Amino acid sequence: MNTFNPTSDGYYGEFGGAFIPEMLHANVAELQAKYLDILEDSSFQQEMQSLLKDYVGRPTPLFYSENLSKQYKAKIYLKREDLNHTGAHKINNTIGQVLLAKRLNKKRIIAETGAGQHGVATATTCALLGLECTVFMGAIDIERQKPNVERMKMLGATVVPANSGSKTLKDATNEAIREWINNPTDTHYVIGSVVGPHPYPDMVAKFQSIISKEIQEQLLEKENTAKPDYVIACVGGGSNAMGAFYHFIDNNHTKLIAVEAAGKGIQTDKTAATIALGKKGIIHGSKTYLIQTEDGQIIEPYSISAGLDYPGIGPAHAYLNDTNKIMVGSITDDEAIKAAFHLTRTDGIIPALESAHALAYLEKLNLKENDIVIVNLSGRGDKDMLTYQKYFTNEK
Ligand SMILES: *Cc1c(COP(=O)(O)O)cnc(C)c1O
Repeated sequence: MNTFNPTSDGYYGEFGGAFIPEMLHANVAELQAKYLDILEDSSFQQEMQSLLKDYVGRPTPLFYSENLSKQYKAKIYLKREDLNHTGAHKINNTIGQVLLAKRLNKKRIIAETGAGQHGVATATTCALLGLECTVFMGAIDIERQKPNVERMKMLGATVVPANSGSKTLKDATNEAIREWINNPTDTHYVIGSVVGPHPYPDMVAKFQSIISKEIQEQLLEKENTAKPDYVIACVGGGSNAMGAFYHFIDNNHTKLIAVEAAGKGIQTDKTAATIALGKKGIIHGSKTYLIQTEDGQIIEPYSISAGLDYPGIGPAHAYLNDTNKIMVGSITDDEAIKAAFHLTRTDGIIPALESAHALAYLEKLNLKENDIVIVNLSGRGDKDMLTYQKYFTNEK
């Protein structure tokens, strides 16, 4: 297996690390010391693989879209992460982390969530594996994402509103960190993307790397090659993209394209294009690119899709960008909506708004005949129906 590893203290070039308050040191140090041994343990792998197969529904299909292929005059494949249990790739990571928490004898899980997708995946996994679950969520997000809040409650999780600051994701993250400081011995904090202090970016990347491993195997069977010409994925914090890129990073043939949310446009102040517009700084325990004011305060990001409006980016992506191992593009709200409707009408698949950003990037590529393109369809669009409905009504 080819792997993409940070240094032992969690650096990808100058990015990453573990910038944490002293009171979190013990929790993070325990994870750093033990995560690789647990991940490589064969009984851990067996238990995880068995749940990924029979509970999550892996391997997810690699679907050849005849309609998109005809339109773009290339071979377009969709990696169907939308078909995972709970509707997105997030559960690949929560299954891994909650199993790991059990190995560390933790009794309780905490998590933060923005749109609620990571919260639902965490609550689901905790229900299955019998751990207590508390999810922190910004008070404004609780109002905006009612159905996911109800799902988490039905799954037995406690949802705690974050009432500080802008009452959104970054405030929920602050509350979760505070809670972890107060409960260091019995609680594991499940972070939902390739962000946070070392070892989270690497740990989450390894749990999500199953996506690119399956793509290699499936492509070998379908096209007799394990090297596509392009892999395209959307980036919020960067976990579905890292999963889809992971096993292609050291292959010089495959072009890896990370698509950020431009929001209303990268020239406006309503955007979440972190790599395009961000400056180096520290957010949630690691050094990376983030969008910030002159004096280093985080700027509230904006995107029509709740899963992409994170002000930072995983440190590995910052490094891969600066070393030209990935290409970074951006897609506006309108372009994403258009792509979502297009896929729905051509292929009968309603994609998540996040995933629609990756799909929309097909328009920007100069494809050659027989180019093999993989679009990572990170999730399904059920959760976005209210947003889609508005456009649907306008259409008539
Ligand atoms: C959360 C989410 C994302 C963004 O998170 P990443 O860590 O960047 O993958 C993308 N797509 C869907 C469907 C999501 O739920």
